[in-house]
Amino acid sequence: MTTVVRFAPSPTGRLHVGNARVALINWLFAKTQGGKFILRIDDTDLERSKKEHEAAIEVDLRWLGLVWDAKANQSDRFAAYDAAADKLKAEGRLYPCYETAEELDYKRKRQMARGQPPVYDRAALKLTLSDKAKLEEEGRKPHWRFKLDETAEVTWHDLVRGPCHYHASHLSDPVLIREDGTHLYTLPSVVDDAEMAVTHVIRGEDHVTNTAAQIQLFQALGAQPPNFAHLPLLTGADGQGLSKRLGSLSLGDLRAQGLEPMALNSLLAGLGSSNAIAAIDSLDELARTFDMGRFGRSTPKFDPEELFRLNARLLHDLPLAAVADRLRGLGMDADEPFWLAVRGNLELLSDAEAWWKICRQPLTPSIEDAAFAAQAAELLPAEPWTVETWKDWTQTVQGASGRKGKPLFHPLRLALTGREDGPELKTLLPLIGRERALARLQGQTA
Ligand code: GLU
Repeated sequence: MTTVVRFAPSPTGRLHVGNARVALINWLFAKTQGGKFILRIDDTDLERSKKEHEAAIEVDLRWLGLVWDAKANQSDRFAAYDAAADKLKAEGRLYPCYETAEELDYKRKRQMARGQPPVYDRAALKLTLSDKAKLEEEGRKPHWRFKLDETAEVTWHDLVRGPCHYHASHLSDPVLIREDGTHLYTLPSVVDDAEMAVTHVIRGEDHVTNTAAQIQLFQALGAQPPNFAHLPLLTGADGQGLSKRLGSLSLGDLRAQGLEPMALNSLLAGLGSSNAIAAIDSLDELARTFDMGRFGRSTPKFDPEELFRLNARLLHDLPLAAVADRLRGLGMDADEPFWLAVRGNLELLSDAEAWWKICRQPLTPSIEDAAFAAQAAELLPAEPWTVETWKDWTQTVQGASGRKGKPLFHPLRLALTGREDGPELKTLLPLIGRERALARLQGQTA
């Protein structure tokens, strides 16, 4: 049987790193199984769902490289959900309830005060036809609950949590349809997973109790429940939920900051698993070591600093071909000696721009000791320059000036680059070239 997974975001906002992690793990799982990855847009809530968010989700997933094999919108599939609801109603598994939110709240509080679990008491099942007619005459509209089989224990073997058991009598019958006739997430998700032959539902552990009810829904609809894997939710480095800081951790923002998508993928594939976290430069390579069995129940902590460290490590080894287009996009040439000279000093790709300017554009030098700089200028060898030139030149300057170590190198670096530190000067010097180097050592803007 072909493995089929789905990533099912609601297009009510921007994707954040927690969503990206679920998408990535689904994608990698499908990849390792030779399976299919479906993008399902959970847009049954027509008011809160926005096309612009859906478009942004697609941009974000493409940026990460998580290309989907098929896409579906729940808003195109209301007929299928209505048909499933009709079948459940006909079988007495979906029943109308008339309590208001306040009434339900009151019931819950009373149960809790008595030390009872706040499980829905199924009072609506006792309503007679005339009770219901009376309530509807009063203008009440029903919401609809799925009648769980309270005699059954729901069990599944979770790919992350291991064996799971829920006794249905400890759960409230879930509301599937609101008073205004719209579907909540629970039923559409089951209908889609069944019709799209989803074999593995991999999602956050905030859905564990939904799973217990959804397994009974699959059975009530005559479908085989898929396998489930519930991942612990990411927290911030401080162990707090990510939600408060989601703004700064949206994929759109990380992309705008110039982060490498593979830095994020590398981190998210490793967090919460027993795999060591390393900077990996392709999804195929990540997939080679991916193993769902290595994810456990410990809370994965997301630390943006770790992300930026991985980003730097990734850049340090990237070949020119991997960044050529983006260098050009940032106004630089895709020049191999330049890239090899600077990549080890970058945290973000855009940091290369400053070095590009230092090599190719006029700069006002910082001269610590004009006489020394002028002496060094006079000793500059003739071109052509190679990576050996720096060593040959500074040895000559050392012999002539008697300086060595920092007093020799530091003023030369400052004069040539205007910076205290940076890439090795043996690689930068040939890129700066004799004409600029000479003028800068003489204190001229060049
Ligand atoms: N739209 C749901 C969510 O974003 C999907 C959950 C699921 O994967 O079933 O939480």
